[in-house]
Amino acid sequence: MNASQHLLQPDDDAPGFRPFSHGLYIDGEWLPSRDGRRIDVVNPSTGALIAAVPDATIEDALTAVDVAARAAQGWRQTPPRKRSEILRRCFELMIERSETLATLISLENGKALRDARGEVAYAAEFFRWNAEEAVRITGEFGIAPAGTNRIVVDYQPIGICVLITPWNFPAAMATRKIAPALAAGCTVILKPASETPLTAFALAALYEEAGVPPGVVNVLTTSNPGAVTAAMLADPRVRKLSFTGSTPVGRTLLAEAARHVISSSMELGGNAPFVVFDDADLEATLDGIMVAKMRNAGEACTAANRIYVQSGIHDAFAEGLTRRMAALKVGAGTDAGTECGPMITRKAVDKIDRLVRDAVGRGARLLCGGSAAEGPGFFYPPTVLSDVPADAEMAHEEIFGPVAPLYRFESEGEAIARANDTEYGLAAYIYTGDLGRGMRVASKIEAGMIALNRGLVSDPAAPFGGVKQSGLGREGGQHHGIAEFMEAKYIAVSM
Ligand code: NAP
Repeated sequence: MNASQHLLQPDDDAPGFRPFSHGLYIDGEWLPSRDGRRIDVVNPSTGALIAAVPDATIEDALTAVDVAARAAQGWRQTPPRKRSEILRRCFELMIERSETLATLISLENGKALRDARGEVAYAAEFFRWNAEEAVRITGEFGIAPAGTNRIVVDYQPIGICVLITPWNFPAAMATRKIAPALAAGCTVILKPASETPLTAFALAALYEEAGVPPGVVNVLTTSNPGAVTAAMLADPRVRKLSFTGSTPVGRTLLAEAARHVISSSMELGGNAPFVVFDDADLEATLDGIMVAKMRNAGEACTAANRIYVQSGIHDAFAEGLTRRMAALKVGAGTDAGTECGPMITRKAVDKIDRLVRDAVGRGARLLCGGSAAEGPGFFYPPTVLSDVPADAEMAHEEIFGPVAPLYRFESEGEAIARANDTEYGLAAYIYTGDLGRGMRVASKIEAGMIALNRGLVSDPAAPFGGVKQSGLGREGGQHHGIAEFMEAKYIAVSM
């Protein structure tokens, strides 16, 4: 079977697809796990089982480290131009296959096809961007102040990388790591989320077809991520951990990496404020909040989680937002026309339900939505709450769902103080007609990324990442993303 045939294959019995052979992808081979155990993958739109993938053991993971170590020398010595062309081919194949990949993402994650298509385009862009970066890795040259020697700084691939990704962007969170790692000359082991492994495997087949040599990218799934990751990090050949996921798991992994002094990049949780001033353009702001809140049905680390609206515009904004949220078409991710798909699991629905009940119990007003749907599938309706008290649980926890809580404010200083009243600092949104105010507020909000009069902040060409408990390091951007996978080597040269 050639690599492209590993992609989705129609299944007569299932309303969708039965994706390829579901092996662990190690050294270019599709392997079962050592103990033959598997992990079920469920379609969140229906609750139905769609696949089962191997459940890697610690021994499987250590085999992947051996393989990545064997492939490392060849890959780092592959000329940058050649690496660049392979990455460019990954981009092209992703674009050619975008409809198939989007369908797969939608099946295993539940997101609406239009969001899945957006994700594929975004994910592919990391290959195009890093294909361009791969041939632009430069060094530094300087004169020692004492005049005795020259200072040469060379940037080298950091070594074997363990990459761990979440379920909410099964393609983009993987390519945002794999593309710069490969551009830098590193070999990798990817552990995707157990809920959404199929996209990662489909992409592995695509990389192979694009010319990525066996062993350079390895993909394994496991139901025992703590022990499996700990074993890989304990191997001295592993030099990098790049993680995207929740802050609590990030803390655990940082502690594990610290034991072995491993370079770590952490893309963690968020609690984004969305600040609307009286002088904002109402329609543009409503367009923006619908993207910032509802992309991926609210299951995004950058999702607007706390919406602060100045008193003068508050009621018109609340009315416009409620109208737009109530009109969204909720349905299975793969159904044409769906605008809001299901949540990833029943547990996620229960959490959202708990947060909404807590807010209403403390005095918030429900403007639309507000109660979990029965199954099948894991649905929660688009919901708007106003007058949410500052001590509501949802003011401090990621909602990760289609719930828009509104908080009223009076002054600029109050908006900044409330926006910063969180342990997180990933993204923030500001809407105002006064650019000076926008820049002033942007400089005072504690976040790694600010969208000023925009509802979308992510861009492969810009550095993505957070401050405070939202993480360490940056992905994407001019040199930022690739630098996370390189080590500076200084050479003192006598003259
Ligand atoms: P999660 O529970 O932290 O899981 C993320 C990944 O870590 C999964 O692959 C998971 O594997 C794995 N994992 C869990 N426990 C582990 C352990 N002890 N050792 C090693 N790996 C472990 O997060 P999630 O629920 O999938 O994703 C949602 C979170 O990700 C939210 O907080 C969101 O804000 C954050 N996120 C951040 C960004 C960003 O760029 N800052 C982007 C997207 C999402 P299993 O699936 O097998 O449990």
